[in-house]
Amino acid sequence: MLPEAGSLWLLRLLRDLQLAQFYRPILEELNVTRPEHFDFVRAEDLDGIGMGRPAQRRLAEALKRHRSGLKSKNWVYKILGGFASGQKETTPPSDSLPSLPEPDGRLKCLIPDRAVCRGELLGSGCFGMVHRGLWTLPSGQTVPVAVKSLRVGPEGPEGTELEDFLREVSVMMNLEHPHVLRLHGLVLGQPLQMVMELAPLGSLHARLTAPAPTPPLALALLCLFLRQVAGAMAYLGARGLVHRDLATRNLLLASPRTIKVADFGLVRPLGGARGRYIMGGPRRIPFAWCAPESLRHGAFSSASDVWMYGVTLWEMFAGGEEPWAGVPPYLILQRLEKDRARLPRPPLCSRALYTLALRCWAYHPADRPTFSDLEGLLQEAWPPEGRCVREVMEPGALRMEPGDPITIIEGSPDSTTWKGQNGRTFKVGSFAASAVTLVDLPATRPILRGTPARGERHQRNADGHPVGAPGASKATIPSGGPLSDPELQRRVMEVELSVHGVTYQECQAALRATGGDVVSAIRNLKVEQLFYLSSWSRADCRRILERYQWDLSAASRYVLARP
Ligand code: ATP
Repeated sequence: MLPEAGSLWLLRLLRDLQLAQFYRPILEELNVTRPEHFDFVRAEDLDGIGMGRPAQRRLAEALKRHRSGLKSKNWVYKILGGFASGQKETTPPSDSLPSLPEPDGRLKCLIPDRAVCRGELLGSGCFGMVHRGLWTLPSGQTVPVAVKSLRVGPEGPEGTELEDFLREVSVMMNLEHPHVLRLHGLVLGQPLQMVMELAPLGSLHARLTAPAPTPPLALALLCLFLRQVAGAMAYLGARGLVHRDLATRNLLLASPRTIKVADFGLVRPLGGARGRYIMGGPRRIPFAWCAPESLRHGAFSSASDVWMYGVTLWEMFAGGEEPWAGVPPYLILQRLEKDRARLPRPPLCSRALYTLALRCWAYHPADRPTFSDLEGLLQEAWPPEGRCVREVMEPGALRMEPGDPITIIEGSPDSTTWKGQNGRTFKVGSFAASAVTLVDLPATRPILRGTPARGERHQRNADGHPVGAPGASKATIPSGGPLSDPELQRRVMEVELSVHGVTYQECQAALRATGGDVVSAIRNLKVEQLFYLSSWSRADCRRILERYQWDLSAASRYVLARP
């Protein structure tokens, strides 16, 4: 039975509409306990409890009024004068009064209206539209951007939408991470516009669901994205923020191998000693992605973001399918709690990765891993990479040619049949284990922590494979296996520890390119990191790094501040 105290608002609302007789059926049959649950109640559901259509219309009107929240006034003041007064959810409990980290400066940049030229429509969301655009800097240089404009009603911006829009600006202006979408600035025009870094390849969800002939994404690339997202989320958590809307639709592709966490409209500060944010008012929440405590109590924390990360992982391996499709939203909580049900393992997801997702879906938030844990756990669950050593043409088997990179989904040393993805054709299937030799056992991979591996981009092609002819990556493994040479191992570790987030293979390749010179390998990798982080040339990146005495963080801050 759902708690009644939390549903007094419903009783009051129905009484005002003289529909109090529907209180119990709505509560008990439809399981509606929060205003936003109505988003998912269909007319047929209300028909089912005997509510007539005119009454349904009255209810819909009343809900709209109930949810419109506080009308924001003086919004320009909020932007220019700080956000502290404007960051309240409707009636938040006192222990969770939002106190977003105060901006160190003001906005990164106030951009004059005339400096931004809007082009093609990229998409639209709750607040309004997102267009591709071109921002002309005072120097005359132009920067491709995405421009999000706040939808404006006849009486000006709507209260809650404006609140969320401003909150998104205030959050984003304080964030700097290679896998967090960057805000360039704000146009104080009509409409209000956010000028953001352009993610030219769109959302991950759109990519996952793109029809043929767009090929599916390589599984190894999905793992890389997962690691990048875990790094970005660990960063948000460390800044005391909870995202609350982690999903593939909110992950944007800045390049074929770089994902960025975006959409900060639902971000809230983690308040109180328990590091939670309690939703105080009626707001939209993405049910199918939410942890049980969020659905039941409106409680959000880094642990509930971890739950959402598990659902995002599931989406990635399920080809962008909708989680809990066909399950009415008001039943999702029941499935999770009463039936202890969890999303099923998608066929492309290895058992190890699914186990990781299940850990994210532990019922008790304290039992879930943290995002920092996840970076390491992912490394352990990373699917092994192999190379085809003989042609496989048998009917029913995964076709492959010698040299094809194969990502192993299922397979152990004692089984004769493995399942995997051919990285050349992207096809998935089973094959004789003898057709593939492993080149990269997870056990041999060092556990990486901290920020993700941006530098992997230069080692692989657009689809996530190692660059070079088939078999090239095999050539990067020294004879006798990756760990057989202690001196090489020592040098690789040294490079790895000096350049945050690079992979073992990248370090090997960098060392090979410099004839084993550790210092040069480190520098080259840093140049690559900076190059892929910015729009500067490699030569410029080298100069900047030299100026900052090879301090990659300082150099990154410099380039990120100058688009
Ligand atoms: P909501 O804000 O309601 O959760 P949403 O995430 O779809 O929904 P927006 O953040 O407004 O809404 O984005 C709308 C669409 O525009 C996105 O789906 C995405 O495809 C595209 N988009 C948003 N930001 C960018 C960007 N920086 N670069 C490229 N495309 C973007």
